[in-house]
Amino acid sequence: MGLRTPEEYIESLRDGREIYYRGERVSDVTRHEILSAAIRHASDLFKLQFDPRYKNMLVYNDPEYGEISSFYKIPRGPSDLKERFKLIYETTRYGRGMFNIIKAIGSDALFALMIVTKRMDKQLGTDYYRRVMEYYKYVVKNDLGLAVAQTDVKGDRSLRPHQQHDPDLYLRIVKTNEKGIVVRGAKVHTTQAIAANELIVLPTRAMTEKDKSYAVAFAIPVNTKGLKLISRPMKAVEEALRDPSFVMGKMNVENETLTVFDDVFVPWERVFMAGEWQFAGSLAVTFPIFHRFTAISYRAAMADLLLGIAKLLAEYNGVDNKSHIRRDIVEVIKYKELLISTALASSDLCMIDELTKIAIPNIIITNVGKLLANEGYLDVVKRVIDVAGGLAATAPSLKDFESPEISHYLEKYLVGKKGVNAKDRVALFNLLRSLISSFGALFGVAMMHAEGSIEASVIELYRSYNYNSSKELALYAAGIKDSIKLFDKS
Ligand SMILES: Cc1cc2nc3c(=O)[nH]c(=O)nc-3n(C[C@H](O)[C@H](O)[C@H](O)COP(=O)(O)OP(=O)(O)OC[C@H]3O[C@@H](n4cnc5c(N)ncnc54)[C@H](O)[C@@H]3O)c2cc1C
Repeated sequence: MGLRTPEEYIESLRDGREIYYRGERVSDVTRHEILSAAIRHASDLFKLQFDPRYKNMLVYNDPEYGEISSFYKIPRGPSDLKERFKLIYETTRYGRGMFNIIKAIGSDALFALMIVTKRMDKQLGTDYYRRVMEYYKYVVKNDLGLAVAQTDVKGDRSLRPHQQHDPDLYLRIVKTNEKGIVVRGAKVHTTQAIAANELIVLPTRAMTEKDKSYAVAFAIPVNTKGLKLISRPMKAVEEALRDPSFVMGKMNVENETLTVFDDVFVPWERVFMAGEWQFAGSLAVTFPIFHRFTAISYRAAMADLLLGIAKLLAEYNGVDNKSHIRRDIVEVIKYKELLISTALASSDLCMIDELTKIAIPNIIITNVGKLLANEGYLDVVKRVIDVAGGLAATAPSLKDFESPEISHYLEKYLVGKKGVNAKDRVALFNLLRSLISSFGALFGVAMMHAEGSIEASVIELYRSYNYNSSKELALYAAGIKDSIKLFDKS
């Protein structure tokens, strides 16, 4: 009990969990040649909490539970949310621009569960909030790593769960008894389930009464019988094994799985929603508010990496004072600073939940930030590629610098501006190439879809926005109303 070392965390994953990689059963994920890279990355958060330089940021002294991971600190106001932004931003920078999700996503889900179960208990007389708080206590006291499976496989997207041609295309309750529930179905894109101790499961959308059996939320250990994790191929790690100088691929990766629930039993104490369809939508949208706040925080750090690459390559190539390069770089600055600004503004203008007193990031600003991140990412990458030139694709490997026959050619011809070390320059080109090739599919797709698709943010913004003051201004300017209220925030 208490904060765990990286070794304790890694040991805890040797628990018989059922994982598959490229069609083969993985006997021990912590020792698997490829998947262990995702475990190593997750373990960094356990390492950092014992580093005297970062302990202040990573560890929170909770009045009830003592020293806990700061990721699990329940936000109570703007300053807690700003600290959370900083925590996610800086730990992503520590991960060479790769987000470290293992405590962030689970805490996002726990905060949402606290808020929604409290409302549910008040309205329906259920007993879910107590269970969530017991579970939260178990998580923080044991310093657990969590994954969250919300996104169902969904079959025909235009149909509701109960209308699908196969009833298992959304996760559902197939049996209930005095001990608990049995669930069947599959979630998809589950980040770091292979590296988590526990999996929190949430509904992915609003439900109707006919979808009652699909309105389900719970938490289970990852080694629960019937839970099967089918990993995506980890191209970046496979490439890093061929070329160990590809540091990021070796050290900083996360994994996604198709997460199958083959009649999985969940005891009642771990069930947080079972059939209360009226609240499925509320849970499905409250979790993303926290999780999109997390998204803009880590995406700002990814932008910091792109900015660093662009500026250094502009300097190495001797073009950093050229006007179009300046414009490219300023676009990257704009992207990064807009994401930071939205994270800070959504902290300042947070909403305090009436029943739990939890600070919820501002829903409008968070979604604006998330949309900026969605829509701007590929444009920012385009800017960095414009600055870098063709070596972003054609640079030799760093291994070529180890060859006595050819290294002197690289040192002579790939030097860039006088005084630049050719190997440093090629290392940066290799890094950029990895971001747009071996990590390219992941980042390109993740920046569009992870934490909800573009349309999900558009829908949320359109429906939550308060148009009153804008409409009043238009009526006033058109001469339809002859006065306007000033300084009214509503
Ligand atoms: C790298 C990565 C990591 C992720 N990690 C997690 C995770 O840890 N946990 C988790 O639960 N999820 C995770 N996700 C899932 C992510 O939230 C989803 O990808 C996202 O919600 C989109 O869902 P989808 O992929 O099923 O795409 P789809 O829903 O199929 O969307 C494809 C397109 O269809 C549109 N569409 C879909 N349904 C409708 C409809 N009914 N009407 C109109 N248009 C529609 C969408 O707007 C989009 O434009 C992750 C995704 C990625 C890419």
